[in-house]
Amino acid sequence: MEDLYTTLGINKGATESEIKKAYRKKAQEFHPDKNPDNKDAEKKFKAVQEAYETISDPQKRANYDRFGSTGSSQSGPQGGGFGFNGAQGGFNPNDFGGFADIFESFFGENMGGRQEQPQKAGPMRGNDIQVQVDIKFEEAIFGTDKYLEISKPETCQKCTGKGNEPGTAIKKCGQCNGQGQVRVTRQTILGKMSSVHLCPSCQGTGEIPEKLCSECRGQMRTKQTEEVTVKIPKGIEDGTSIKIKEKGSAGIRGGKHGDLYVHVRVFAHKNFLRDGANIHSEENIHVLQAILGANVKVETVHGKVDLKIPAGIQSGTELSIKGKGAPSIRSDKMGDHILRVNVKIPEKLNKKERELFEALAKESKVNVKAEGFFDGIF
Ligand SMILES: [Zn+2]
Ligand SMILES: [Zn+2]
Repeated sequence: MEDLYTTLGINKGATESEIKKAYRKKAQEFHPDKNPDNKDAEKKFKAVQEAYETISDPQKRANYDRFGSTGSSQSGPQGGGFGFNGAQGGFNPNDFGGFADIFESFFGENMGGRQEQPQKAGPMRGNDIQVQVDIKFEEAIFGTDKYLEISKPETCQKCTGKGNEPGTAIKKCGQCNGQGQVRVTRQTILGKMSSVHLCPSCQGTGEIPEKLCSECRGQMRTKQTEEVTVKIPKGIEDGTSIKIKEKGSAGIRGGKHGDLYVHVRVFAHKNFLRDGANIHSEENIHVLQAILGANVKVETVHGKVDLKIPAGIQSGTELSIKGKGAPSIRSDKMGDHILRVNVKIPEKLNKKERELFEALAKESKVNVKAEGFFDGIF
């Protein structure tokens, strides 16, 4: 068996671009379109393909360099082979599999690399639709129903999605003879090339209505508005998306509807801050409440709650009120309300208050003499 480097006409140290270049040259030289009915050229062409597949792949090339083989089934005859169509003088670019990227660049855009052969147009699924819904903080906690009006392509009611005026016939397309695709033959540097395209007359359906539906003009769908009820589950968090199956655009030719995605945005609350299942808020308390302890009423999303502030609490302490937060979306567990306590010092005292505080200072042996310079509050 000939050395793969010799097959491609390169030496062992060839770079990636040298390999590509050599491959193009050899492929053009032995291309069946340039050598019709030449079995020898066809054999060489296949050998070049196989050599390129090994040498262009660093892993396979390394194996080949070490063991003189690719260690895979590549050395055997290619399954399926290359489907040259002698009668038409063309070939199917898809038969080249991994080589398509290279052929693409020198056979021109329409020889189209890996893409599928155009098929006769069949059912096509409708597009997904994305909408955004804004809800209040409380609605996210307790859940709600939202009524949306979705404007989207829906199956034309007049022609029931067939595209023809009711009562008129649907004929076989004349341009493609009902095949939905047409073969285009072009002259290229390599000789005549032919490729297959979707039929432009019938857009690949193989059929043409005698008269287009007057409602949808043959588009099979019209813009319609559907009312959709979205169940917003309790505990939903800002930024969550809800998928509603098959409430997107209608498909065509019997294809399914797309899906509707509802992106939920939760408005901020003036007092509450949500952190998962917990809800945070802050409350100011008087310094005497902090010192002596007190019962206060705390506003939670579930209403006002009595809370005991323990004597001697420090400013910035967080107190937790069990079960007064947000429900978890995955379980029945309810989060907590977390209250941060800010101790407020009275900014002004009346004479009586001042005397009492001074007496207290004396009792507690706290030095409260404020003399000297006062540079202001920053
Ligand atoms: Zn057609
Ligand atoms: Zn219609």
